[in-house]
Amino acid sequence: MNNPPKTALVTIHVEANSLAFPLAAAQLKAALPKGLSKNTDIKDFYLAQKPSVIAEELAKTEYDAIGFSSYIWNARQVRETAELLKKANPKLIIIAGGPHVSAMPDFFLKDDLFDFLIKNEGEYALEKAIGSEPQEKTVVLDGPRVNMETLASPFLSGAINTDNYDGVLWELSRGCPYNCAFCYEARNHGFVRRFPMSRLAEELKLFIKKGVREVWILDSTFNHDEKWCTAFLEMLAEEAPHIHFTFEIRAERVTEQQARLFGKLVASLQIGLQSSNPEVMARLNRPFKPQNYKKKIRLLEQNYLVYGFDLIYGLPGDTLESFKESLDYTLTLSPSNIDIFRLSLLPGTELDDRAEEFGIVHDGSYERLVVGRPGFTDEDLEEAEDLTELCDFFYTKGLASIWFKTACDALELTPSFFLERFGIWLEQNDFDREDLADLDPAPLQKEFLEFCFSWRNKKELYLPLESYILWHEGLNMIMEGEEERIVELNYDPDSLTQLDVIGLANFATYFPPTPQNWRIFTEENNVYWEPIV
Ligand code: SF4
Repeated sequence: MNNPPKTALVTIHVEANSLAFPLAAAQLKAALPKGLSKNTDIKDFYLAQKPSVIAEELAKTEYDAIGFSSYIWNARQVRETAELLKKANPKLIIIAGGPHVSAMPDFFLKDDLFDFLIKNEGEYALEKAIGSEPQEKTVVLDGPRVNMETLASPFLSGAINTDNYDGVLWELSRGCPYNCAFCYEARNHGFVRRFPMSRLAEELKLFIKKGVREVWILDSTFNHDEKWCTAFLEMLAEEAPHIHFTFEIRAERVTEQQARLFGKLVASLQIGLQSSNPEVMARLNRPFKPQNYKKKIRLLEQNYLVYGFDLIYGLPGDTLESFKESLDYTLTLSPSNIDIFRLSLLPGTELDDRAEEFGIVHDGSYERLVVGRPGFTDEDLEEAEDLTELCDFFYTKGLASIWFKTACDALELTPSFFLERFGIWLEQNDFDREDLADLDPAPLQKEFLEFCFSWRNKKELYLPLESYILWHEGLNMIMEGEEERIVELNYDPDSLTQLDVIGLANFATYFPPTPQNWRIFTEENNVYWEPIV
């Protein structure tokens, strides 16, 4: 064994994107004593890599200990990789920690494959595991809560170099005061512990110095404490208005001041709505008032913020109909994206404990996805999955948020019915649903809209909508860095801005078509447009 032991801290990420940042590994490395920390490598892998490939790569270095961060999505790969490593080198100390170990220790205890399992917070327990001998029987260590005031920062300590990653995950707090029945976080903590603002200010300075462009804020209740949230947002607006931040927020807690401060940043907000049905939400311990919620979302809209929602189908009390209503409610709030998930019965959650009472059964897979039950049959789940795929393609990937509601209102169709009709249209036109992921939504959106306006005997309304879509596509391309774009419009852009206020039918009545090519361009960071004569 090397002295100090040579260690690898391994993260198997979902995929290689700006979210693939090994924060847990960096935090663990930072918390180790200096010598141990120096002799510790952070190793990144991805779900698409086979365990044999991961094990082969790790075996290239003579490690004394290898620790894995385990989540629900990588638990199987962690086990299989550990098996291969242990077989090749029985003297290697293998450790697993992370949320899945805390929630499902039995899965990792099988066959005494791991020498150590660390439940709960790992920073103070890891040193003991690394410095030990291989164990005959798996030893389970219960990681104590860390002291948030004194815990070493993964960034300021130099444990991780942000230059090697496209984005940074930034943890501001641990714990959550809410009690959502589907969430593991609700069980273990119950209260929030925050890192000191002085530490966060230093970390932010470092991000600016290093030229970090994308930061994902990890804080389940970012806007829970108004005073703290205001102070933090003011700091970001002052110091880093150029960095793109993604926040998870509770919409019910949004205030005018928060919305205004978010508006000073380059920010995206993700909101866990889950369902718009108050009865379903009550079973999740999340009181929900649809009208009040809408008012809060208006505050975000008024500040031109980019926001998206998460929805879950298959929740207790949920039916296919209530899921469609949730989808309709959500889509009329015009989010930039909607992420829809089938309920995953996470081990250790209240829903898992009460599964029998609620009649929820999972499929036995690692994701523990809910399967059919009375009120939400297998066929219903399939239909919900289908709608999810269509919404993802047409709405989110198709960047339809600006005009989708206007189109549905003019067609007098609910958003969910519109999407279902899109699915039927794809079939009738021989599109293979398997190919959707590789297709560009824009031409299909236009063809389908043309079909819809003709089918609903409202052909004359398609002309202004088409110009509206082309206009926004042009603006998007300019925002994404194109210097100039020429668009052929049937209405001048200034009048098109009226369209979502007065609706398509009124617009078509009051504004006659004036076909013209327009040039959209940027000058000194401002966007301009002019007719081409
Ligand atoms: S879902 Fe979010 S708000 Fe609810 S308990 Fe989990 S972390 Fe907290």
